[in-house]
Amino acid sequence: MKRFVEGVVRGQSTLFPASLDDYVTEDNPVRAVDVFVDGLDLDKLGFVGVQPLDTGRPSYHPGTMLKLYIYGYLNRIPSSRRLERECQRNIEMIWLTGQLAPDFKTIADFRKDNGKAIREVCREFVALCRKLDLFSEASVAIDGSKFKAVNARDKNFTEAKMKRRFERIDESITRYLSQLETADRHGDAVPEAKVDRLKGKIEKLKDEIGRLNAINAEMMKSEDKQISLSDPDARSMATSGKDTGIVGYNVQIAVDTQHHLIVAHDVTNVGSDRHQLVNMAEQARAEMAVETLDVVADRGYYEGEELRACEEAGITVTLPKPLTSGAKAAGRFGKQDFIYVAAEDVYRCPAGERLTHRFTNQEDGKMLRRYWTNACQSCALKAQCTTGPQRRISRWEHEAVLERVQQRLDQDPNKMTLRRKTVEHPFGTLKDWMGATHFLMRGRHKVATEMALNVLAYNMKRVIAILGCRPLLEAMQT
Ligand code: SF4
Repeated sequence: MKRFVEGVVRGQSTLFPASLDDYVTEDNPVRAVDVFVDGLDLDKLGFVGVQPLDTGRPSYHPGTMLKLYIYGYLNRIPSSRRLERECQRNIEMIWLTGQLAPDFKTIADFRKDNGKAIREVCREFVALCRKLDLFSEASVAIDGSKFKAVNARDKNFTEAKMKRRFERIDESITRYLSQLETADRHGDAVPEAKVDRLKGKIEKLKDEIGRLNAINAEMMKSEDKQISLSDPDARSMATSGKDTGIVGYNVQIAVDTQHHLIVAHDVTNVGSDRHQLVNMAEQARAEMAVETLDVVADRGYYEGEELRACEEAGITVTLPKPLTSGAKAAGRFGKQDFIYVAAEDVYRCPAGERLTHRFTNQEDGKMLRRYWTNACQSCALKAQCTTGPQRRISRWEHEAVLERVQQRLDQDPNKMTLRRKTVEHPFGTLKDWMGATHFLMRGRHKVATEMALNVLAYNMKRVIAILGCRPLLEAMQT
């Protein structure tokens, strides 16, 4: 006999479990949220209102509000209005808050007023992971990704964008004026409504010029000659796609290569990763409480001084050099075809000649040693080597640091695969959770709070997947 699974009849009397606790199984992740927050010293972390006031209406305990948010981010419910609704109908949430149902304004204010403390909570969970011995390998992959801010592209202005806008307006005005002239020539044959419409469009464009001029004046006062109208901290950033960009933030993460937990993260509004390596590596080292650290990153982080600072701090970095050699791109020998002989302080060129040190000069704050040979004029390979009278090779005074980075990569080319496998998955997951619009709040500090909650939820989910909920609960309770 064919049939469907039947539900109960709504009017039938039922016996629900006697207590709220019976609705939540022993290995439900909501229990991990509860135990984790109960174990925190919220006062020390800087939460507002941990001690109740003697007067006024009783407030919600910050622990309850924090649990509510962590649960929300674990379950992709970051909005305060949706959290308010879930407090009223979601049995796990009712269990977690003890049937409290704050309104959305109270929920939103808690996240707004406790940003710094919430970011500390994210670090507390990383410290817990460290105690659980989840960072035994002292190895991280660092990467950055662009996240969209609450700021449409049309509401962000840079000098180049402003110039393009003025040009487009000029073109439009010219086009409408020419249409008006044509209408004039045809006299009464052209309906008056059409002439009025064209005049109206020109007036609107003139108003737009006035508006843009005011924005332009503000923009030119800013340090980086850029202005975002909705979120003033958001910046225009190029993304990996050709001719694409977003207005947003550059989120940096350091992910441990063993368990893929986010050890450290940062939110910047600088579009480039070039000066983020030391910052992220040092943060990761501090969070993992290790003396030495292995770091793998992509070529976007390649910067001589950053690599030198890492080496001096005991951080071993592996990353590829950017492919910026003009000679190589033009089909000639690149610098990598010249072998440095340290014992003699010379370069050996592809023709076997010795390029000796001639002089040292400073360029962009770096001391550069220049090498060349007089044998180039009679060299059979000259066409493949240089278009000038002789090929010159420059060597930064700390070039040995860069050579050691290259040696490490040559010895273990799989590190780049390890980097991709480690760090790209967390970004994909976080963006999927955050949806098409990414951030909900405005301003760098508030956005950093949102990111901290997402990272905390990501790490919590990951640890539950690695250890299981019950072992995590037991570890937190000991
Ligand atoms: S052109 Fe000069 S540097 Fe280049 S291969 Fe010939 S000798 Fe060597």
